[in-house]
Amino acid sequence: MKVVVLSGGVGGARFVRGLVDVVEPRDVTVIGNVGDDVEVLGLHVSPDLDSILYALADLNDEERGWGRADETWRALETVRALGGEAWFQLGDLDLGLHLVRTQALRSGEPLSAITLRIAQALGIEARVLPATDDRLRTWLETPAGEFPFQEWFVARGHRDDVDAVRFEGDAEPAPGVLEAIDGADLILVAPSNPYVSIGPILAVPMIRDALQARRVPAVAISPLIGGRAVKGPADRMLQRLAGGTSPGHVASNYPGLIDALVVDEADADDLDGLEVRPIVTQTLMSDSNARRHLAEAALGAVVA
Ligand code: GDP
Ligand code: CA
Repeated sequence: MKVVVLSGGVGGARFVRGLVDVVEPRDVTVIGNVGDDVEVLGLHVSPDLDSILYALADLNDEERGWGRADETWRALETVRALGGEAWFQLGDLDLGLHLVRTQALRSGEPLSAITLRIAQALGIEARVLPATDDRLRTWLETPAGEFPFQEWFVARGHRDDVDAVRFEGDAEPAPGVLEAIDGADLILVAPSNPYVSIGPILAVPMIRDALQARRVPAVAISPLIGGRAVKGPADRMLQRLAGGTSPGHVASNYPGLIDALVVDEADADDLDGLEVRPIVTQTLMSDSNARRHLAEAALGAVVA
């Protein structure tokens, strides 16, 4: 069974790691968000792609949810001591990947080709693709002004309420993305932030169109448990932008794009307004068994 999964960083990477335990990794294509990509210290950083790559290569820091395990921060200490740009956390191990990617981008290699090459070097069998090779950037409109994603998220600690999300750039799908969607038996939307992780992927018009025209089931997994985000601002954003944090509010971000939503048991009594089929189960990915369980629940949609 060929599976395509749309993914952000933390929640997406945890989910994808569980997914490749229950389906043949070679049959999985991960389409990753690049709306958060940022240039720091002259380096091109793709935080969500990196979270996915590190999780699939078992190099990730499970607790933090991003970056590498056994990380050290000595290069950043030097940057700080020298008065350099130190607001964005880049670990020593992590920096190696950013160096390789940045050099390749400067030499003209597309992000998708670089990502596939890095995945291969890390021994990853699943296919990891950026949604696009074009420049696509997420902007947040807030009462304090408009900010690029990382300035809002990291520098300002996502403290500002979000009034609107905007995507900069006319992006086309990266090579392989449409082919993967066309060839999929199942399309999954990871338990990622609908606005700033999945939103930028759906902002690529040809990707949205391909998902709309699908002839196979599409299933999203809610990133909320009991109406609360496990981590990050998804619940606050849903409250303000969709008017609530129920499964129906989550699904309202994917109109015509999903056929079922995996919701946590804690949200099972709050299904009013949900217009797609609910799949109720435990959705906290606390360990590898829990991750596998969640992946199996989502895959159940094709046999059910
Ligand atoms: P980001 O790019 O790093 O922000 O990562 P994502 O958008 O992929 O993931 C963030 C979302 O993952 C948050 O809204 C969390 O609530 C959700 N999340 C993290 N861990 C879990 C989990 O164990 N279960 C579920 N259902 N959602 C989770
Ligand atoms: Ca992200």
